[in-house]
Amino acid sequence: MTTAELPAREAMEFDTVIVGAGPAGLAAAIRLKQLAPDKSVVVVEKGSEVGAHILSGAVIDPIGLDSLIPEWRNEDTPIKTAVKADRLYMLGASGALRLPTMLMPPLMSNHGNFIVSLGDVCRYLARKAEALGVEIYPGFAAVEALFENGAVAGIVTGDMGVGKDGHHKPGFARGMELRGKYTLFAEGARGSLSKILIERFGLRQDRGPQKFGIGLKELWQVAPDKHKSGLVQHTLGWPLGNGTGGGSFLYHYDDNLVSVGFVVHLNYRNPYLSPFEEFQRFKTHPLIRDTFAGGKRICYGARAITEGGWQSVPKLVFPGGALIGCAAGFVNVPRIKGSHNAMLTGMLAAEHVAAALSAGRANDELTGYEDAWRGSPVGRDLWRVRNAKPLWSKLGTAAGIALGGLDMWTNTFGFSLFGTLRHGKPDYETLEPAAKCRPIAYAKPDGKLTFDRLSSVYLSNTNHEEDQPVHLLVRDAALQKFSEHDVYAGASARYCPAGVYEWVEDAGKPRYVINGQNCVHCKTCDIKDPNQNIIWVPPEGGGGPNYPNM
Ligand SMILES: Cc1cc2nc3c(=O)[nH]c(=O)nc-3n(C[C@H](O)[C@H](O)[C@H](O)COP(=O)(O)OP(=O)(O)OC[C@H]3O[C@@H](n4cnc5c(N)ncnc54)[C@H](O)[C@@H]3O)c2cc1C
Ligand code: SF4
Repeated sequence: MTTAELPAREAMEFDTVIVGAGPAGLAAAIRLKQLAPDKSVVVVEKGSEVGAHILSGAVIDPIGLDSLIPEWRNEDTPIKTAVKADRLYMLGASGALRLPTMLMPPLMSNHGNFIVSLGDVCRYLARKAEALGVEIYPGFAAVEALFENGAVAGIVTGDMGVGKDGHHKPGFARGMELRGKYTLFAEGARGSLSKILIERFGLRQDRGPQKFGIGLKELWQVAPDKHKSGLVQHTLGWPLGNGTGGGSFLYHYDDNLVSVGFVVHLNYRNPYLSPFEEFQRFKTHPLIRDTFAGGKRICYGARAITEGGWQSVPKLVFPGGALIGCAAGFVNVPRIKGSHNAMLTGMLAAEHVAAALSAGRANDELTGYEDAWRGSPVGRDLWRVRNAKPLWSKLGTAAGIALGGLDMWTNTFGFSLFGTLRHGKPDYETLEPAAKCRPIAYAKPDGKLTFDRLSSVYLSNTNHEEDQPVHLLVRDAALQKFSEHDVYAGASARYCPAGVYEWVEDAGKPRYVINGQNCVHCKTCDIKDPNQNIIWVPPEGGGGPNYPNM
């Protein structure tokens, strides 16, 4: 049976449909039920359970939680480790310069923040939401937005049980229509439906391009004598050169756990650069390696992070719905924090949805939300750091960070020497042809401190049903060969943190192999492919990583 011959999908009606059970989606759901307990709210989540696809640092600013669940400090929560010490280093190949905390603008201080697994925080938020009557459906990906009279009227969940070639396997189940008076898109960085809506409704008109980084993370159980509970440490510089933005984080929390991660800004130029290998190299630095001696790596994953901030936030509303959290992009880059703003924008949107529902409105534009965010704590948080990323991109790490720091200081007193700087090109346009770049030699992994991609992906517990349509669509295979392969030396094989893409020699000709079952849903290919020729679409619901506590 072809899809055209299938019976109509079953439909369920809700007051509000929310796509994505991250901090933004769950905070919106909770706020809606707090304000309008009689209104129905449903959340769909493509991970096999809430938290399965959440990957973050994470040091969280509790401003969102304090306002959403004021009693959280008296409850049994996964938020147990307060930040006690905060260090920032500039790394050279073998040395490290500690930057004095007093040079940092006050907004950079982590005093009062907490070190957590954001996945576990989402599990806690999901329990709170369900206790208020929110329906949460994990294992269901939203694959289409429903449109009626030009407005978004809900979403469609993906069919289950479709084979690679499109045939329906035993146990095939049609997706459902979840129809809503309002639909909030909380898909996080580079959401697949959010991207379509941004285009369809022209939400990026007069706004800068979104900028991204790829963040790679490992979770380690370290030897007790290496654990310094509450220590937050960041580095800049080595192993990245001055012209490539990025840096590391290292957070000690809970029971001898250390989150270590590395972010590479996706406006890098050299197609030979591998963010995964840079991360492995970073761990070998004398300042870093000792932390892991005698420890065990227990989890690995990767995820894109939004970096455009103030200048790149698209228009948030369209008829019938809104973007919240990192689907729009509210990360404060110098603070490497976005979860607080994800929650705050979820709550702000929810307040406007609740008011609209109680006024009997439906499927119109929540203009009040769009008008409110820049004057809210979210807008104030992003406004003060708006030049940090453009300065870094234009001037390189050393001068960019120095001037970005100065600008954050002057912004503390209400002015900027730079006004509001623009971002450059979108990240997919920044790669240079391989012929102009130097190949980078990376050392072989030792299997103790440094690892290869495949043993890393194993620790992400990634699983996809093998017999299903490919979820990484290459629009034009010939273009991939003569551009991505011939001009950019097959950059996807290096930027993908899960070894999904390979160019193999087949009878003397390069053939593109896509190992889609390894995909950890970081979305980097959708962002960085130089021709925007790779489209990430959600695979069958429940597929992807199964992060226990990332
Ligand atoms: C490496 C790294 C380190 C970071 N460190 C910090 C930090 O220390 N502190 C901090 O505050 N922030 C940090 N951030 C940023 C922070 O993680 C994000 O700002 C935050 O997670 C955004 O929340 P969100 O709810 O908008 O999106 P997400 O957390 O990405 O959640 C989106 C959810 O939606 C689901 N979803 C997506 N599409 C669909 C679909 N079509 N159908 C169904 N479900 C879908 C996803 O599976 C996911 O569960 C970091 C980010 C990264 C990548
Ligand atoms: S295939 Fe794309 S989304 Fe999946 S892990 Fe690789 S880069 Fe990330």
